[in-house]
Order: sequence, then C-alpha cells, then structure tokens
Amino acid sequence: MSDQCIFCEILNGNSPASFVYQDDTVVAFLDIQPITQGHVLVVPREHATLMSNVNETVAMRSFRVARMLSSVVRGTLGATGVNLFVADGESAFQDVPHFHVHVIPRYPNDGFGLTFPDRYAQPPSRAELEAIADAIRAAV
Ligand SMILES: [Zn+2]
Repeated sequence: MSDQCIFCEILNGNSPASFVYQDDTVVAFLDIQPITQGHVLVVPREHATLMSNVNETVAMRSFRVARMLSSVVRGTLGATGVNLFVADGESAFQDVPHFHVHVIPRYPNDGFGLTFPDRYAQPPSRAELEAIADAIRAAV
C-alpha cells in the first residue's frame, strides 16, 4: 500500500468509489472522469506501479476481469465496442502510479479517438522491421 496513491486510498476505504466488481486479487470501479459512459478501471489490490511490477497471476486476473466486464458493458449499457487500455509509464499517459486496466465502452460517435504521429503515413521498410524484430526476439 502507498499513502500517496489514490487507488490504495480507495482500497483502504478512505476514498469513495463506485465498485462494480471485487474478488481476492482485483477490484473494479467506475472512473470518476469517464471517457465514455461505463468507463471502468480494473485495479489489483496490491500496489504496484507498472504492469511489469505485478506478478503474472495478478496481471492475468486483471485482464480476465477486464474481458468479463467488456462483455457486461456491451450487454447492460448498449456499448457497441470496447477498448482496453493500459497506460504503463508516464510517457504512456499513466496518471495514477498503480497498475490498472481501463475498460472503455464505445458507442457510435462517442468522440473518443486516437491520434497518430506524422511518420505513421510512411511505414518502415522490411529491413527496419526485421532489425527491430531481431532485437525483440533476442530478449524474449
Ligand atoms: Zn496504490
């Protein structure tokens, strides 16, 4: 647990949240600033900043619950799609330093979108892709 972490405060019962799911490993509650209606956060009970800081069991439970809630928001809220999103690190827009999975229900014309860098229009060569793939394969 971390004193400065809002998610730990919620887990301690010191801050309110609208819970939608709880088990022995993870909880899920509504984001207080939802991107869309029914935007849920799946949060492990143990404090860990990054995805790589949680063990595989905790990570898999987080994604299993996110998958289950994706079906639930389609069925109960009428979402026509779902985005799962993990902001893993500051450069990836992580704003709460406690690993979590966003379940973002999607609706037609809901106003949420992605932006791509200019270089997206010029895909890398096969040689460049293979060089990157080599580096990743060597570390797997
Ligand atoms: Zn925390």
